[in-house]
Amino acid sequence: MELYDIAVIGGGINGAGIARDAAGRGLKVLLAEQNDFASATSSASTKLIHGGLRYLEYYEFRLVSEALAEREVMLNIAPHIIWPLEFVLPHEKHLRPAWMIRAGLFLYDHIGGRTSLPRSRSVKLAPDGHGAGLKPEFHRGFAYYDAWVDDARLVVLTLASARAHGASVHARTRCTGARREGDAWQVTLCDEVSGKESEIRARILVNAAGPWVKSLLERELKIESAGQVRLVKGSHIVVPRIHDRRYAYILQNPDRRVVFMIPYEREFTLIGTTDVQVTPQDLPAAISPDEVAYLCAAASRYSAREVTPDQVVWSYSGVRPLYDDGKADPSAITRDYVLLLDENGPPLLSVFGGKITTYRKLAEQVMQKLAHWIPAHRSWTHAEALPGGDFGGRAYLAVLAEFRARYPGLDPHWLARLLRRHGTLIEKILAGAKCEADLGENFGGGLYERELAYLAEYEWARSGDDVLWRRTKCGLHMSEAQRTRVAERLAGAR
Ligand SMILES: Cc1cc2nc3c(=O)[nH]c(=O)nc-3n(C[C@H](O)[C@H](O)[C@H](O)COP(=O)(O)OP(=O)(O)OC[C@H]3O[C@@H](n4cnc5c(N)ncnc54)[C@H](O)[C@@H]3O)c2cc1C
Repeated sequence: MELYDIAVIGGGINGAGIARDAAGRGLKVLLAEQNDFASATSSASTKLIHGGLRYLEYYEFRLVSEALAEREVMLNIAPHIIWPLEFVLPHEKHLRPAWMIRAGLFLYDHIGGRTSLPRSRSVKLAPDGHGAGLKPEFHRGFAYYDAWVDDARLVVLTLASARAHGASVHARTRCTGARREGDAWQVTLCDEVSGKESEIRARILVNAAGPWVKSLLERELKIESAGQVRLVKGSHIVVPRIHDRRYAYILQNPDRRVVFMIPYEREFTLIGTTDVQVTPQDLPAAISPDEVAYLCAAASRYSAREVTPDQVVWSYSGVRPLYDDGKADPSAITRDYVLLLDENGPPLLSVFGGKITTYRKLAEQVMQKLAHWIPAHRSWTHAEALPGGDFGGRAYLAVLAEFRARYPGLDPHWLARLLRRHGTLIEKILAGAKCEADLGENFGGGLYERELAYLAEYEWARSGDDVLWRRTKCGLHMSEAQRTRVAERLAGAR
């Protein structure tokens, strides 16, 4: 039976980050994900690499400073899928006074250390500037920077890096049981496609099952743990774009929550999110009509165009697996992560909470916690670009210009979208293509046969949803018939 140093259960961002870090340290790693990678919380986030301005109100200074420092690291190692995004906060003095916002933004500018992003400032809101798409009664506001990430691609590229460092990475493989036997874990895995079970051994077991962290412990591992998880659902809606500028709005709601309104996939606006406490029985999460109404109302308080449920073209929901710190208000529960180590035999480490933003740092902390059982090795993940992110210090636009010059026969706008998905790896997809016809069948929405084949071969894509909603967001730009065609093509290819 194969013996691994570490078996990681869960192929969301945290499991992926841990597998990558461990594999790069020369450890023999296996990762098992029961569905597609990033199919749970890690593709359902607001997609921000951010410190979390609102967390300052909850005194989460450690989290915010670590996250802001990580923002800088992530902008460097994944410049294709992560980029700066300017936020505008329209001012409403009865909700938060200007001095409070200024103080918060000053802290936000400085608490994370050196940053390449511009500092915050106050701005005038005008229909042709920072107030585009807003009601004319909003005159003043504040602007600051955070970063945008394609969350599902971050997971897949992190796993591609883990695999390149030797990790054995398995989608559609569920951990159905694990028990301690001597100096290792005996782990049972079930191939969810064939139904076949197999066993492996691992010296260390990592539980990165996200919303299932507690149920994996209790059901599959039969272990009582002190750690409690609070499941808090958050949903987003997508509507035709509210304005054509590049910046996002952070809107203050009368319930003191904030709601984001973010430019999305060029033609749309992403609006989110909510905080709804749920139970394990509610998984997988789905948006409720109340949440749609709440998000439409929050956006309509500010948007010149009323946002109504009938405008919603897509929505998604995810469940935050938060560490239960006893707070009653779901918005107030800590967003920081907690790593619980069980040393009653071969070690078991469980991940509670965490942010997409801090996943790399979380993985480093996991390695530190396990230092007693693994050989000493320096941290390395901050210094190696994720696959396709090796821009060599050049700006995205410079890299784009280079590819446009190399492929003059291809649509320059489409090349830009492809570069945002794959970075320098687009070379593998384009490979000498001179014109559109060389790309194979056009499925619509910017997806061609060559990319589909690449996603199936190198990025574990098997189903229509894998490709249309996670590896790409082409589904948003397609008709139902086009989406069906992609799913059929993938099924036929197997
Ligand atoms: C609405 C919302 C908005 C958010 N916005 C942001 C944001 O803007 N920025 C940010 O930094 N963070 C954000 N977050 C937080 C972030 O998305 C999560 O913290 C992160 O995705 C959690 O990742 P994870 O790997 O722990 O969990 P998941 O992504 O849920 O992964 C866990 C995986 O484990 C698998 N699994 C479970 N049981 C088994 C088993 N028995 N065998 C095999 N596999 C199993 C599941 O299928 C799942 O894929 C947001 C979260 C939500 C819900």
